[in-house]
Amino acid sequence: MQYTEIMVRYGELSTKGKNRRSFIMQLAQNVRGALMEFPGLKIHADRDRMHILLNGEDSSLVLPKLKKVFGIQTFSPSIQVEKNLEALKQMTQQIMEEIYTGKETFKITAKRSDHDFELDSHGLQQYLGDAVMDVCPEIKAQMKRPDINLRVEIRRDSAYLSYETLKGAGGLPVGTSGKGMLMLSGGIDSPVAGYLAMKRGVEIEAVHFASPPYTSEQALQKAKDLTEKLTPYVGGIQFIEVPFTEIQEEIKKRSPQGYWMTLTRRMMLRLTDAIRERRHGLVIINGESLGQVASQTLHSMVAINEVTTTPIIRPVVTMDKTEIIELAEKIDTFELAIQPFEDCCTIFAPPQPKTRPNLEKVLELEERFDIEGMMARCLAGLKVEEITPQQSGKKEEFADLL
Ligand code: ATP
Ligand code: MG
Repeated sequence: MQYTEIMVRYGELSTKGKNRRSFIMQLAQNVRGALMEFPGLKIHADRDRMHILLNGEDSSLVLPKLKKVFGIQTFSPSIQVEKNLEALKQMTQQIMEEIYTGKETFKITAKRSDHDFELDSHGLQQYLGDAVMDVCPEIKAQMKRPDINLRVEIRRDSAYLSYETLKGAGGLPVGTSGKGMLMLSGGIDSPVAGYLAMKRGVEIEAVHFASPPYTSEQALQKAKDLTEKLTPYVGGIQFIEVPFTEIQEEIKKRSPQGYWMTLTRRMMLRLTDAIRERRHGLVIINGESLGQVASQTLHSMVAINEVTTTPIIRPVVTMDKTEIIELAEKIDTFELAIQPFEDCCTIFAPPQPKTRPNLEKVLELEERFDIEGMMARCLAGLKVEEITPQQSGKKEEFADLL
């Protein structure tokens, strides 16, 4: 079917009162970003709906991209029809002939914002219902849960027909909740944490700690590739590489191994917080999941978290590993994440990290270090790079028709 436009229904933002306008503006900007590769598109964001005019662009390429934009409840590819009964009847019949095989029931849902149109919604439903019966004599009209719901909208400019409602990504438009720094390792959990934060409108920047030559070029590339997997939801993500070698060597040299992990994590958090401040982020996001490993006991979290009062969002903290993996598969980060490239935590992982680190002891140990000096040298070597989506142009199946 040659669609002419996609009609987008907003998600939760409909309930956001006076912020509504800025939510819609942000969503429109994100949609433009996600669909940048289609220069023909025209995007109009109204108060209640967004209309994406296809202008000849291939809807089967546009729809999968749109599906990843947060803040969209549902969307319907539609066909523009001249605003007269004969044209509407013809197009209705053409659509039905194309799609009715195997379907038993249908209904017509008519909506009219142009009240000067010759039939009202009820009359239009009758008229087009009869037109359907003419070409599909076996099909039955059914109001509740019909196999086909053919929607017709009479608007000022034109009439529109649609018969599919696709599920959007839900959530809130990215950017409407402010910015957070995502601590992104090469593992399964942190990309999922980033995805979930974005889903609630948080714009993210990825902060990755690398310790060359102990960590490889491939490990760094893997973190960038994982970041790339998160870009379709936003358009582009800043990737910040943090040179962490000196600090890890110092910790290893100057402290008992039971405390390496706690001291390392505290340094990571201090640095992420400093980067956040420089880059005007509001919060930190990480992939910690309660009880998964030594650094993720509540006692460890307390000892690590002590370095900052900045809120730390831990979207996967209460999820089971299987639940996290399910999401990782959904956002296509799982296969990448399980590739075996050691990251800085694995390489410097002590054989027996403390699961109940003693904060007083930690503070005492930290007196051995020139923390400010180490941080300053580290921050002087940050590398920032924008990661953008690959232009894959992949066609995807829509199994989840509503
Ligand atoms: P992940 O699967 O995200 O690697 P994990 O279960 O392996 O998590 P840890 O290695 O203990 O857990 O890391 C906990 C969190 O600390 C990570 O989710 C991530 O947010 C952060 N983190 C760990 N290593 C790095 C790193 N090299 N760069 C940036 N953040 C990191
Ligand atoms: Mg990890």
